[in-house]
Amino acid sequence: MILNDFFHGISDVLFPPLCLACAEVLASGPQEVFCPECRRQITFITGSCCPVCGIIFPDSPSGNHLCGTCLENRPWFTSARAAVAYDGVILDAIHQFKYGRNITTGAALARLLAGFDFADINLGIFDAIVPVPLHIKRLRERGFNQSLILARALGKKYSMDVDFSLLKRHKFTLTQTGLDKKEREKNISGAFVAVLPERIQNRNLILIDDVYTTGATINECAKTLVKTGANQVAVLTLARVL
Ligand SMILES: [Zn+2]
Ligand SMILES: [Zn+2]
Repeated sequence: MILNDFFHGISDVLFPPLCLACAEVLASGPQEVFCPECRRQITFITGSCCPVCGIIFPDSPSGNHLCGTCLENRPWFTSARAAVAYDGVILDAIHQFKYGRNITTGAALARLLAGFDFADINLGIFDAIVPVPLHIKRLRERGFNQSLILARALGKKYSMDVDFSLLKRHKFTLTQTGLDKKEREKNISGAFVAVLPERIQNRNLILIDDVYTTGATINECAKTLVKTGANQVAVLTLARVL
């Protein structure tokens, strides 16, 4: 037995992995995040969706058409996909992670994201993963960037570089909560700046964020990257408001 496995084995006995939602001991081991009961409450996002923004079409089995929002105002990213719906146990866990500053929960959510199969996105064509940056003031307040923690788990799974120095958030914005789509777009406009254009130009980049709400933040990031010369930008988020 490799020493590392041995210590993990000991630590699992002393500190067994617990369900993020109900704290029940997980029988299936540390790769699981929720117990079967809580996992059943999660809506995994599969099925037909808008090929660009990824909004699901629950009533349309052949959903290969753009949604009204993308038809009216095409985003700067080529495609956005999320693993799960932003509600119930997922919403609570993301709040624990971000506002309760619970890194263990964050690591578990990152495993959930990395374990999800984004079936219609060819990740092989991408060169690097870019987490949505936080403003330095927010980063100091929180102590970590939740998107970077998620990005690292994906980078590890797909053996892809995580480049957190390409984008900088130079405009401090108040929370987007409570704002509608137009207000969010206005609030976030011009918030990001590209730092290393030579590492952006002609590259295919994957942006990572924790939650896709209206897409305003992620679209502003994608706009900054594309205007700097990125070939294409795709977006993966852990959760999405449906
Ligand atoms: Zn549970
Ligand atoms: Zn759409």
